[in-house]
Amino acid sequence: MKVAKFGGSSVANAEQLKKVANIIQADDERRIIVVSAPGKRSSEDMKVTDLLIELGEAFRLGEPHEEPLKNVLDRFDAILDELQLSKAVLDDIKKQVVKIFSDGNDLASKLDAIKAIGEDSLAKILSEYLQSLGLNASYVNPKEAGLILSDQPGSAQILDESFELIHTLRDRKDIVVIPGFFGYTKEGKLVTFSRGGSDITGSIVAAGVKADLYENFTDVDSVYCVNPKIVNHPREIISLTYKEMRELSYAGFSVFHAEALIPAFKEEIPVCIKNTNNPTAKGTMIVSKKQDVNQAVIGIASDAGFVSLYVSKYLMNREIGFGRRLLNILEDEGISFEHTPSGIDDLSVIIRADQLTKEKEAIVINRINKELKPDTVYIDRGLALIMIVGEGMHSFVGTAAKATKAFEQANVNLEMINQGSSEVSMMFGIKEEGVNRAVQSLYQVFFENK
Ligand code: ASP
Repeated sequence: MKVAKFGGSSVANAEQLKKVANIIQADDERRIIVVSAPGKRSSEDMKVTDLLIELGEAFRLGEPHEEPLKNVLDRFDAILDELQLSKAVLDDIKKQVVKIFSDGNDLASKLDAIKAIGEDSLAKILSEYLQSLGLNASYVNPKEAGLILSDQPGSAQILDESFELIHTLRDRKDIVVIPGFFGYTKEGKLVTFSRGGSDITGSIVAAGVKADLYENFTDVDSVYCVNPKIVNHPREIISLTYKEMRELSYAGFSVFHAEALIPAFKEEIPVCIKNTNNPTAKGTMIVSKKQDVNQAVIGIASDAGFVSLYVSKYLMNREIGFGRRLLNILEDEGISFEHTPSGIDDLSVIIRADQLTKEKEAIVINRINKELKPDTVYIDRGLALIMIVGEGMHSFVGTAAKATKAFEQANVNLEMINQGSSEVSMMFGIKEEGVNRAVQSLYQVFFENK
């Protein structure tokens, strides 16, 4: 059996939902369907989840909420009209909103419950639509499906006990439509995953039912080896490993939610990224092991918005506990870090800019000066990371040489180089302004054999 997840653009309007229904009908094995909330219909449009966040914000600020609510209802109304379905879902939404606003839950939980309305309503609509086409389909709420999550509103995690419950979905004879993005705590409170979390639901369900394949339908034919906004018509990736996908999505490949890989990876469920608008295209397979590795590099990813915290102290290498105390300061301030490249007498900590606000920066620098007495400490903003990724890297010689040549050709200065011991990726830190040039040059070197 296959679990198929349809993302926001695949369910953005009635026309897209018709394509989704065709895809479901085209393969009897597509028995469990997971859906996002309607996404953007055009580049200027808003996602229903963002409209719902506006509704939640209006409530939080005590502002009138009629208009944001109407914006949400209008999106579903248009879909129902065109699919000629009853409008019961709209009344449902209104009732849910009234209930959420007046229940005794804390604010974060209320906002999660509001956000989940997008997926929940769309799943109801899709299952009704499939029924209207004569299919035996049912809406299944995540509670009924067995998605039990940790009590972390906005960034919940799946609890292990869920998988056994989800497994029983295998016995169902009908087509099951489950809303993505949310589940329930043990106490029965609704909580959502982080943004884009329908991918996570899909992967969890695929792992739970031990699906033969998890299909992730989106709006591109495949995963490309480099961002098509930076390089025109880059090569498609036919197949890559979970590890490679993880490395690529870490640095900006947004096709698939990074967290969503974990459940599929643990159960070794192959994942296929496919296009709702071109479902016969092969797509990209994500698998646990590749048959033959015939290239060192499979993809190049880049992401801006990093900050480097540089600390140096003569004889740092002999001072026991220096690194730990430095990282402790970050931990105390609730800052997570990404990498820690180091030298004999210096250490940089690479942090995402959103983690290190200006206020936090002042506190951290102060504490480092006071507690660690370094020779130098400073913050460098505007850093970008470029990763070249490929499991083939450890059996090919000269990958780093080729990469550094590419940076040289692009006239981009390297601030930092890092290769993990697993040899699946090599990371380069550069100034943000050089990113596009560097990525284009790397693409030429690794994919155009120039
Ligand atoms: N609708 C949610 C979001 O926009 C989840 C998803 O689409 O995967 O983040």
